Amino acid sequence: PSVVNKIAAGEVIERPASAVKELMENSLDAGSTRVDVTVEHGGTELIRIADNGCGIAPEDMPLTIASHATSKIRSAEELFHVRTLGFRGEALASISEVSQFLLRSRPHDADCGNEMLVHGGNVQEAQPCGCPPGTIIEIRNLFFNTPVRKKFLKTTQTEFGHISEAFTRIALAHPEVHFTLKHGSRLVHDLPPSADLRERIRVFFGAEIADQLIDVESSNDQVTLRGYVGNPRFSRSNNRMQYLFLNGRYIKDRALQHALGEAYRGLLLHGRYPITFLRMQMPPEMVDVNVHPTKLEVRFQDSGRIYSQLLGTLRQKFLATDL
Ligand code: ADP
Ligand code: MG
Repeated sequence: PSVVNKIAAGEVIERPASAVKELMENSLDAGSTRVDVTVEHGGTELIRIADNGCGIAPEDMPLTIASHATSKIRSAEELFHVRTLGFRGEALASISEVSQFLLRSRPHDADCGNEMLVHGGNVQEAQPCGCPPGTIIEIRNLFFNTPVRKKFLKTTQTEFGHISEAFTRIALAHPEVHFTLKHGSRLVHDLPPSADLRERIRVFFGAEIADQLIDVESSNDQVTLRGYVGNPRFSRSNNRMQYLFLNGRYIKDRALQHALGEAYRGLLLHGRYPITFLRMQMPPEMVDVNVHPTKLEVRFQDSGRIYSQLLGTLRQKFLATDL
């Protein structure tokens, strides 16, 4: 219970895209090297995620949908050293409560898989089945039993737009993983694994954007910054092409966005935003990811130091680059 008490309660699943994000993060936490995402009608009718990760043993299946049951942390203390993308054990519990949920999984050392069906929170059956090693989760008719929620869903196109953005963020944070995204019968993305983030940026945003990027790298004893920023000439009128990743997770951070603005000061026209794809790594105890239900915002132990590192690195880079 002490773990539970320390975990900020919060609604995690707002729309199909939130489910896609949570399931993709689970696949990554399971060590998958390939994750296939299929959705129908903007995810409102079907979301299917198939991975080749570690799989789930049959006896652990019921636990995956128990509220606050996570296999990823064991003590309150560990909450301050989170190395996985998930840790609250809320996502599958919430999703299976408001959908027709199917979990099919097979650990790599098992001869066959098992499947568990949950209908609006009621476990219907669990039985052996054939399936490849890894995990397949299908979510049908999200919010079928919460009509008010369902009513707030937007058009197929809008919901798919949110899914596509969630997919993009995760795929950019993990270029070493093979991801695919299908909407109905349309294959929207097929992203083979790549050691180079710029390759993935090229697939999502085109060669013109990718080729002009300036590479950035800096590290001190604790923090590593790596990635790309845009030439001021390619700046945007909104901040939608600013991607900041911390320990493999997409984040929004005002202070770091401010540092970016400062680095470009005098280089950008008013109201323009630099393109940014920056990945930061730091020891998990230096950052609290448990401040926001969707983990989009984090709290740095020493945000001033990270601010200065980002600003200093970019300034130095710009001085050395012919813009
Ligand atoms: P959390 O990720 O916070 O632990 P979730 O509700 O997202 O909580 O998942 C619950 C548990 O189900 C996880 O802790 C994990 O043990 C298991 N799980 C979920 N998805 C997968 C997957 N794709 N592969 C292996 N295990 C999974
Ligand atoms: Mg999770």
